[in-house]
Amino acid sequence: MLQGSCLCGEVKFEISGYVSPVQNCHAARCRKATGGAFTPEMLAHGTGFRWTQGSDRICVYTAPLLKSPPAYARAFCKTCGSPLPVELEGTPYMILNSGILDIAPGELPLKHATSNAKACWHEIMDEIAPSKPPVEPDKELVSAR
Ligand SMILES: [Zn+2]
Repeated sequence: MLQGSCLCGEVKFEISGYVSPVQNCHAARCRKATGGAFTPEMLAHGTGFRWTQGSDRICVYTAPLLKSPPAYARAFCKTCGSPLPVELEGTPYMILNSGILDIAPGELPLKHATSNAKACWHEIMDEIAPSKPPVEPDKELVSAR
């Protein structure tokens, strides 16, 4: 069982089912959404995901569609602004930033995603592959970016 919460602690959730490996996404929208060089993100199957506190404190922003669905949506806490899990439209998955978990995932990220769009002020120094073979449901994760 994984648990997560926002910075102020008003919003909490737990995940009892499938979670994907983490990927570090360098896409411009992910950098904007987090303010960081990349977003460490993962998927959780919706059937194993549950808000345990503060679901009324969640705000969702959906960005204008760039290419094709699913839309790029971000959820955050109305009080502290922490990024929160959000439904990945048209899929059975929630997408979340791994830094919102209360306990670290325990594995190194699987890969870098969209590294061709990385910030010019950031250099990828680790040995995590930019293009390891995708694992299901990685296709949905990548297509959301
Ligand atoms: Zn909060």
